[in-house]
Amino acid sequence: MEVIKKSLGQMGTNCYVLWDEKSGEAAVIDPGFRDQRIVDIINQKKLKVKYILLTHGHFDHLGGVSQIRDLTGAKVLIHRNDADCLTNAGRNLSTLVGMPFDLTAADGYLSEGEDVKIGDLTVQVFHTPGHSKGGVCFLVGDTLFAGDTLFHASIGRTDFADGDLGELLNGIQSKLFVLDDAIKVLPGHGENTTIGYEKACNPFFKGRV
Ligand SMILES: [Zn+2]
Ligand SMILES: [Zn+2]
Repeated sequence: MEVIKKSLGQMGTNCYVLWDEKSGEAAVIDPGFRDQRIVDIINQKKLKVKYILLTHGHFDHLGGVSQIRDLTGAKVLIHRNDADCLTNAGRNLSTLVGMPFDLTAADGYLSEGEDVKIGDLTVQVFHTPGHSKGGVCFLVGDTLFAGDTLFHASIGRTDFADGDLGELLNGIQSKLFVLDDAIKVLPGHGENTTIGYEKACNPFFKGRV
């Protein structure tokens, strides 16, 4: 797998372009804001973007979806519990920042236990609610795309209407911290980390792990 990471917009949302070198099939994870750099990567590498994969439905992960969908015809996939974030500016929280927007509905849904194929790559889906009800993480080989579930030495906010701190901590412990310590964690904001580092050092899990 090849991966390029770009931090987009004022919220510094990490957008990831990943692809299978052999087939050129690709996915874009969380195109949070319109950004020509993502378009340039797709064009320069001649990628066939099959999917836009959304870790959850907050506006700072959705703002560039239309740009990439229009360019590539990729299918937009999100967990069912966050699907109405696409079509409801209140649910995606864009109303909170005074720039309400909505999009057309998802093309399909992400479910735990249902892998997504991109060329020879297998994207495994973990449902990790707590930051939002439809939050998911994606495991591809030795790399976990963690969205706003798990950050370097932190976790996602749980003070939004559908947040739940206990649920978030439980999901991280039961589904992510059971993965190999060497798994790289590429989060929705900020710098990369590993499962092993977070198990040892994440302050939210002091005394729990
Ligand atoms: Zn979020
Ligand atoms: Zn975010």
